[in-house]
Order: sequence, then C-alpha cells, then structure tokens
Amino acid sequence: MSTRDYIEKDYYKSLGVPKNATAPEIKKAYRKLARQYHPDANKNDAKAEEKFKEISEAYDVLSDEKRRKEYDEARSLFAGGGFRMPSGTPGGGQGGFTFDIGDILGNARAGGAGAAGGIGDLLGGLFGGARRSTTQQPRRGADIETEATISFDDAVNGVTVPLRMASPQPCGACRGTGAKAGTTPRVCPTCNGTGTTSRGAGGFAISEPCRDCRGRGLIVDDPCPVCHGSGRAMSERTMQVRIPAGVDDGQRIRLKGKGSPGERGGVAGDLLVLVHVKPHAVFGRSGGNLTLTLPVTFPEAALGAEVKVPTLDGKTVTLKLPAGTTSGRVLRVRGKGVTRKDGTKGDLLVTVEVAVPRKVSGKAKEALEAYRAATSGEDPRAHLGARTANRAGE
Ligand SMILES: [Zn+2]
Ligand SMILES: [Zn+2]
Repeated sequence: MSTRDYIEKDYYKSLGVPKNATAPEIKKAYRKLARQYHPDANKNDAKAEEKFKEISEAYDVLSDEKRRKEYDEARSLFAGGGFRMPSGTPGGGQGGFTFDIGDILGNARAGGAGAAGGIGDLLGGLFGGARRSTTQQPRRGADIETEATISFDDAVNGVTVPLRMASPQPCGACRGTGAKAGTTPRVCPTCNGTGTTSRGAGGFAISEPCRDCRGRGLIVDDPCPVCHGSGRAMSERTMQVRIPAGVDDGQRIRLKGKGSPGERGGVAGDLLVLVHVKPHAVFGRSGGNLTLTLPVTFPEAALGAEVKVPTLDGKTVTLKLPAGTTSGRVLRVRGKGVTRKDGTKGDLLVTVEVAVPRKVSGKAKEALEAYRAATSGEDPRAHLGARTANRAGE
C-alpha cells in the first residue's frame, strides 16, 4: 500500500460507510458488497472483478485499527492541498520545508544509497509505517571493513575485542537531506526523482543510476555546510566483536550481519575484520601448530635427556630427548597447538637446537679436550671428501 494510494483512494466511499463508521459497521458493509461482487457470482465480468478488488483493498486497511489510523492521518494531512514538513532543523527552522505534493507523491521513490534520509524517508517516518511504493526493494546494508590487532595468545584462544568503528549516519544538521538548513533539495529533473535512468538497448531497457543526482533522486542547490551536501555524517560506535580461536595473522574474519543496517527491511551487511596478530617472544605459528625452538646442550643431545618445555597456556610438558638427537630435529608434542575450526587441536612442534657455549674454561674445557682426543678418529665431514679431515688437533 503506497502513500499515493492512501491519498488518492477513498476507502470509506468504496465500502459506502461514513468516516466515523464502527468496526462492525465496516465489516457488515464489506460482507454485503463482497457477496455482491464476488468473482464466483460474476463470471467474466471485469467490472465486478475490479470492484471486488477495490472493496477488498478498502477492507484490508479499514479493518485493521492501526492501518486505518495511518490512513486517516495521511488523508487529513494532505487534505488541505499544501504540506509542510516539520521545521525542526537545528540552527534553521524559519524556512521550513514546503514541497509540491504532486512531486512528492509521484517522485518520492528516491533510490540508491543516498535515499536514506531523503524525502522518501521523511515521508515514511511521518506515516509511521505506511510503506512507500512497492517498487522500493529491501536493500542489504553495506559491508564494513575494519582492522584489529590482538595478542598471540588471544589469536590462539579467541577473544572478544571492542572495536571502535566509524559508520555513516544521516547528517544531524540537515537531517540527511544534504541541503543547507532552510533550503530544500529539489527533485532531479533528469530521472524525475527515481534515481535511475533507463535506456533502450535492442528491445531491452537497461536501468542505471542517474548521473545527474548520482542515484539519489534529489538535487541539492545549496549544500549543507556540515556534510558538504552528502547528507551523511560519520558517527563512531563501539562494538564488541568475537574473534574466534585459531585466527592467524593477516586473516579476514567475516561477521555476518554486523555491518551497516539494511534499508527498508533489508538484511544488515557484514563486518570484515582484518586481524593482525602480534608476534610472541617464544612461540611461533604454523597454521594449526605452534612452533618452538628448544636449545639443548651437547651432552643432552648426545646422551639423551628429559627436558621441560613450556606450553602456551603457561604450563610445561616434559619432552624425552632420545640419545643422539641431532640439531634441527623436530619433536612433536600432540594437542598443545592451536584449536582449529573443527575443534581439534594442533600440535606443538619443537625444533631442537644444540647450544654452543661462547666461552669454555676450567673443568668443562678439560673435559671437552679429553672428549676431542677420545673422538679424534671420527670425521663428521667424511662424506664431503677426503681432504676435509679434522686437522685442528695438529
Ligand atoms: Zn537523477
Ligand atoms: Zn548535512
């Protein structure tokens, strides 16, 4: 049901009842007429069919208390033939808004993103739910992109972060019209306020956003100084956003329905969060696995040892180092990694690194020299060729 329908159609007259008719009176009148003009009783009678539709439409509105009230209000508002918008514009107000009714009703289908806060919306608001023309399709809200920097631990465990986001809202100074206080935007003559123009192409009409008004349907001659005519203002809001466990640096998270609100009942857009993860002093990440470099002494690597290894949750696990563990060997601690999407856990991958002391002295030095003497027959580079034999002892 459009505003135009409300103004143009006299539902009381259709049902033949006075404006102050009670609900039972309306019902009675409708039943009588419905029987009279029902298509079953008037086969192939186009006029009867038309009349039947008319009384059905009238009854739809008048039988619903809320809609009847809206209808009555709309008609009384427009009854005088002139129509004044409320002049509550901050800083202005003396001028008010006066529109030509014919233009509004015929052309208030301002489409496109700029429609929010345009004439159409003002009308929609006035009628408290009386919808505008049915050609106004629901519009999905825009996606919003933002970034979040979180700690390594939070990336592994998941975290809820407050995100401050700037999103466009109707400008408060001009109430979204984009026109300077006291002036009004005029309906775009190119597209007659529809916001779209169509051109024929081989029997098809292609419609595209109007270039003169950029799809807004309205042209502002005297732009609002606050929003420079855009009708939009950025407003900040803080939103609590849940970052799921296992997110990786550089990953984009899509939170459905957390973006810009939809228009005309459309669904909200999504919120896309680009996540930056701060590096950890000890641990690294490799997909679902955590990585850790574990320095061990030469005796630990050569003779084998039990070594305590830290885990991300602040605890330790004891890792059994087999005798003869080479530097660079990767040992796996199962289930101490990152929680994956499917709920399973990755592993902790421990890379063994034999630590070499910068300085050796005293008994340690003696022991190492004794060790060298004891192993002088071994050549770790034998496979590289004969000339590389250990000559340090000579
Ligand atoms: Zn236009
Ligand atoms: Zn403004």
